[in-house]
Amino acid sequence: MLRAPGEFALCDVPTPEPLLGQVLLRVRASTMCGTDQKIFAGQFPGTLFPHIPGHEFAGDVAKVGPGVDEVREGDRVGVEVHVGCGRCARCLEGLYQLCVNYGRIDKGHAHIGFSVPGALAEYVAVSVKALHRLPDALSWDEGAFCDNVGIALYAIERGRLVAGERVIIIGGGAFGALAAQVARALSAARVVLLGTRSERLERLRNLADLVTANEQDVRDAFPGGADLVVEFAGTAEAARQAIQLARRGGRVVLAGATGPGRELSGIDLSTIVRGHLDILGSLANPRGISARGLELIARGAVDVKPLITHCFGLSEFEQAWATFVERRDGAIRVMVHP
Ligand SMILES: [Zn+2]
Ligand SMILES: [Zn+2]
Repeated sequence: MLRAPGEFALCDVPTPEPLLGQVLLRVRASTMCGTDQKIFAGQFPGTLFPHIPGHEFAGDVAKVGPGVDEVREGDRVGVEVHVGCGRCARCLEGLYQLCVNYGRIDKGHAHIGFSVPGALAEYVAVSVKALHRLPDALSWDEGAFCDNVGIALYAIERGRLVAGERVIIIGGGAFGALAAQVARALSAARVVLLGTRSERLERLRNLADLVTANEQDVRDAFPGGADLVVEFAGTAEAARQAIQLARRGGRVVLAGATGPGRELSGIDLSTIVRGHLDILGSLANPRGISARGLELIARGAVDVKPLITHCFGLSEFEQAWATFVERRDGAIRVMVHP
């Protein structure tokens, strides 16, 4: 429970009751990401305190609420965290992450772990619209990547990757590692992963054709630039790099730098205009894409196991959080098992 920005405590709260169209999930695996750091610090505008965070998780259905017949008690599910209102123009296109009724619980919108209580808890009540049945082959920990893999898949699909292309992924964390593997699964010719923290990159060595912290290595690998560059590092510097590493006429997807107050600088506009670049923003994932991402994990095309670097019980949360925030021993995803 986050009582105020920067202040959390473990505490007992009543088990939520699933409302109309909701299910109660018993959380089996739940992890945290850089966005949680913004939430914890009080920098996420849609979060009101006190707040229970947690938005990357899997669990089984403990109870179904009124009107729910899509799943039954005991079903194993992963969760997509953007639950759109389902009635605005963007939601009708399936773009739940762009819902114009963001934060309006009365309209049916929920951003799980952001605007409504999340899953760093034993139980969480979520809309049935958020659920994806886990393929049998997946463990709970793997299922907790449901939302993450959808985000990575969406960014690659935004970039219109076709077979045989050269791809650069910028960002040595979970999303970069997932996007690199998705690009491979979709038959990229060669995938280069550019990160910054060498301890983390060591863990990701086998997930791309080249994994490096050196921008010059990337230029040497693709002298004319890449067909597609996808940025998942979350910094303005990485966005600049992404634009400069694309070939003329190539595509750039900026998927990481979502925080307010970041500005792009150091780019000659002719790089974009005369370079004839497609530069696309990519925010989270639209409704339903995670189901396809989970299939990629189930058939082994995307391996999330190297990203699971630590596991803790919920009672050890303080240690889990410190491990993640300080990136202890190259921490990528720190799993909590309530
Ligand atoms: Zn996240
Ligand atoms: Zn909507």
